[in-house]
Amino acid sequence: MFKKLLVANRGEIALRIIRACQELGIKTVAVYSEPDRESLHVRFADEAVCIGPASPTESYLDAARIIASAEITGAEAIHPGYGFLAENAEFSEICRRSGIVFIGPSANQIQAMGDKATARETMQRLGVPTVPGSKGLVPDLENAKGIACDIGFPVMIKASAGGGGKGMRVVENEEELPKLFHTTQAEAQATFGNSDIYIEKYISGIRHIEIQIFGDSHGKVVHLGERDCSTQRRHQKLIEESPSSGMTSQMRKSMGKAAIAAGQGIDYVGAGTVEFLVDEEGEYYFIEMNTRIQVEHPVTEVVTGLDLVKEQIRVAFGEELSFPSGEPSLQGHAIEFRINAEDPSRNFMPSPGCIQTFQPPGGPGIRLDTHLYTGYQVPPYYDSLLAKLIVSGSNREEAIVRGRHALDSFIIEGVQTSIPFLSQITRDDEFIAGGVDTGFVERFLKRWVKE
Ligand code: ADP
Repeated sequence: MFKKLLVANRGEIALRIIRACQELGIKTVAVYSEPDRESLHVRFADEAVCIGPASPTESYLDAARIIASAEITGAEAIHPGYGFLAENAEFSEICRRSGIVFIGPSANQIQAMGDKATARETMQRLGVPTVPGSKGLVPDLENAKGIACDIGFPVMIKASAGGGGKGMRVVENEEELPKLFHTTQAEAQATFGNSDIYIEKYISGIRHIEIQIFGDSHGKVVHLGERDCSTQRRHQKLIEESPSSGMTSQMRKSMGKAAIAAGQGIDYVGAGTVEFLVDEEGEYYFIEMNTRIQVEHPVTEVVTGLDLVKEQIRVAFGEELSFPSGEPSLQGHAIEFRINAEDPSRNFMPSPGCIQTFQPPGGPGIRLDTHLYTGYQVPPYYDSLLAKLIVSGSNREEAIVRGRHALDSFIIEGVQTSIPFLSQITRDDEFIAGGVDTGFVERFLKRWVKE
């Protein structure tokens, strides 16, 4: 096994990776930006290297500084976590050329799935249904008009390099198209450094259901069941669950098969997630693949009893997958609540600041992945995720009740958080009934009584 691994990330995921390494007997190197000096990932790693100022481009996104840190400390492998360099094909290649193992797929595999328009084409070639839309990229407004009129409004204009719910616009009719086409293009350039865009039919009343896959370097690809991530606000996930309400074993088999075909089609190695939109009839359409560990991986860990991060490291070392092939058996029900430093009563405005009180929940079926502690200063420079509360029970009902009480006893003072909002969702009849579509949060917001 590796002797030393560098964690090229921050926050809760950096801690998650450090814990996996500790269990595997691997020494860890943390990298951090100046405002992250007092972070737990710096404290808990065996060594730590300051790689620059707050700006991600001068720290967590700076490949040269990270590679240099690995070389200076003698780390043999780099785990990128999620975000930052996790889906950067060039970084995966730089690691390889520097003789450092990138814990994730090769540059070719990231390229095949990393940009969303190419991923659509790859999946179409593999016979997996995709959302009706453009064949590849849409070069200009004239083309966009032709495609949108062919497939019919509403359509969605999407940045090919997009992610995290950003770089997407719903276009209701032809009049709106010119303005939104150019805005999305400009935004894609500004946010992702790439203005490539493509078009999909906008499907309403759908659910977001994704399949966790895993491949090893010996040609085996398996799937580990689904996560339902339909509880979203502005295309960003708030709550994730496994299994998905209403999922039949036949649907799981069929979607699992499509996801495995995606992995096998590109000789995929490592953890990956194949995302689908599912309509009311149970028809599913591929939207994208994420070639990394997902924020919401713990719900899969809870219902399968597996450790996906340890498995990523083992597979990157060249070991065979330790999971059996075939249909996974999912035990009980798990729900993840994303707790963000934001104020739901003020349109989810970010709320950085000092954590004055931190009192986490506990008890049966509670898992908390967080980097918070009393006195921690939440910096304004990075994403607002403070903690992931993962609750489980023998069924969905029990998981919801546990989630409600865990949220209610979770005290974070000093910054505003999404906890009260999430707690109200666990009391909402539509949520409790299960099977909500991606429009649920918008509907909930209209009936939500702010405290
Ligand atoms: P990102 O990579 O930014 O997460 P995705 O392509 O995965 O973007 O889409 C994020 C969310 O946006 C989906 O979960 C879904 O709610 C919504 N969405 C994406 N494509 C469509 C579509 N064609 N029709 C309706 N909703 C969509």
